[in-house]
Amino acid sequence: MNHRISSRVRNIAPSATMSVDAKTKALLKEGKPVVNMSVGEPDFNTPLPASFAGIQAITEGNTRYTAAAGTLELRRAIASKLMVENGLQFSPEQIVVSSGAKHSLFNIFLSICDDGDEVILPAPYWVSYPEQIRLAGAVPVIVSCDEASGYKLTPEQLEAAITPKTKAVLLNSPNNPTGAVYSESELRALGAVLARHDVYVVTDEIYERLVYNTRHFSISALVPELQPRTIVVNGFSKAFAMTGWRLGYIAAPLDVAKAIASLQSHGTGSPSTISQAAGVVALQSFDPSMVEEFHRRRDVLVRELQSMPGIQCLMPEGAFYVFPNISGVFGKKLGGKVVDSAATFCELLLEHDLVAAVPGEAFGAPNNIRLSYATSMANIETAVERIRSFLGRLA
Ligand code: PMP
Ligand code: GLU
Repeated sequence: MNHRISSRVRNIAPSATMSVDAKTKALLKEGKPVVNMSVGEPDFNTPLPASFAGIQAITEGNTRYTAAAGTLELRRAIASKLMVENGLQFSPEQIVVSSGAKHSLFNIFLSICDDGDEVILPAPYWVSYPEQIRLAGAVPVIVSCDEASGYKLTPEQLEAAITPKTKAVLLNSPNNPTGAVYSESELRALGAVLARHDVYVVTDEIYERLVYNTRHFSISALVPELQPRTIVVNGFSKAFAMTGWRLGYIAAPLDVAKAIASLQSHGTGSPSTISQAAGVVALQSFDPSMVEEFHRRRDVLVRELQSMPGIQCLMPEGAFYVFPNISGVFGKKLGGKVVDSAATFCELLLEHDLVAAVPGEAFGAPNNIRLSYATSMANIETAVERIRSFLGRLA
């Protein structure tokens, strides 16, 4: 048959974070008062100066294609941000702006992986990584990180996972879905292992600004030997509440940046000109009150979850997710249905108590669920009451 979906795409599952969110939004449209703790998207507005810069781009006719890698103005602004905030030295030629960090990551895997290459992926991982790696013909080598290590990859685990086929190691700190943040010493220890092996280091730092009582470090600023093979991924969605503008970027060794720009020139072409104009201004418009508010919400949500029987919840240090272990209630029932997995837990919680969460299976962690606190304190309080009542009715 010639009219079949390609085997490349046939076997991928749609993004669980996006599909739970879509299902929740449909229920809300039907008038069901669901509390949506599923999707990871700030419930704040884009900083006004950035929005105005976008409007100005439109009204002044700054609406044409740009260079495929993005405007020089934005790439310069990003290079300067990376220097000042992260201690990383990249020239504008080493930066490629794309239509969201998701797009940046996709470009990376397509540009560095050949068929059969291995990419080391610590679990819990963000839902799109394994599918993107597979779409590039590579093999995600999933290394499960324990609750006991704070869901972080240890140097021993990393060393053991590296083989002659390893092309890249993917690090994501602050982490989606666990909220774990690697400390300076943890990154140095991982960096010492990586320094001994000639592999790419892909570091997704999109949540760098969302840290609570701790600091974000970029691994290649700590371990400079890694710089010639480190690809930094970042974007505007989280720090500047710009999810819908679709703007992300990579900073990479020159040959990788050139390959990615060339790939992008045939795929999407340049990212939105309007979003890029807004991005230049956004980099100067970070609003720390957003972080303070996330911090308050995290404290309330975690305190409540930690007091619930059957739930184990670590204190995340960054991003806007909590990732409780709910396996303590596996085997209990509600309405004749047994809670036999995180997926069933989330299904029942949504059906009976109208709280939307993402099952841990999507993140390679089947004992957990992910709750996003990128929603109002009032919603968090309602969700907490509902989860408590839900757990109380499991028998
Ligand atoms: N990386 C991580 C870890 C994420 O959680 C997200 C959120 N969607 C992205 C990348 C991509 O973000 P965006 O495409 O909106 O820039
Ligand atoms: N990264 C966010 C999340 O994990 C947005 C949705 C997505 O792109 O997957 O919920």
